[in-house]
Amino acid sequence: MDNYIKIEFPSLSCNEAFARAAAGAFAARLDITVEELADIKTAVSEAVTNAIVHGYAGSCGMIEMRCGVVGRTIEITVSDFGRGIEDIALAMQPLYSGSDDEERSGMGFTVMQSFMDSLSVESELGVGTTVTMTKRAGADFDEK
Ligand code: ATP
Ligand code: MG
Repeated sequence: MDNYIKIEFPSLSCNEAFARAAAGAFAARLDITVEELADIKTAVSEAVTNAIVHGYAGSCGMIEMRCGVVGRTIEITVSDFGRGIEDIALAMQPLYSGSDDEERSGMGFTVMQSFMDSLSVESELGVGTTVTMTKRAGADFDEK
């Protein structure tokens, strides 16, 4: 890893905007398009929202976000130490939501998957969840 930052914050919804902005500020040092930057921020927002609303549903705990860079690839991990996911493959299916809250459409993981180059989810019931996502900055420039 060439460089990284690690931040820790309680699972309050106001910290979602902070995490999103922090990841964007970290990624902005790379030669990256506005669109790629927006994709990264959206993916972080989904991961942090999941930690808040599902990982710590009805309670409060700590969330850890790490943003690193290797060459031109950004790697972001978002970890909670909350409830955990029983069936990860099921949880990652488009339109699946384990929550009966009408606000949840079950598209968070699908958004992370489509906006980033890779997504992996590790989780253990009662221990917590770690989402790892990577994206190569400037891939849009390469194509031109
Ligand atoms: P949306 O993101 O569209 O608002 P959603 O959060 O239900 O809806 P996903 O983000 O795709 O959809 O997550 C799918 C399901 O996986 C969640 O409903 C929840 O059951 C489970 N899940 C996701 N992240 C976590 C987490 N950090 N801890 C525990 N369960 C999680
Ligand atoms: Mg979600």
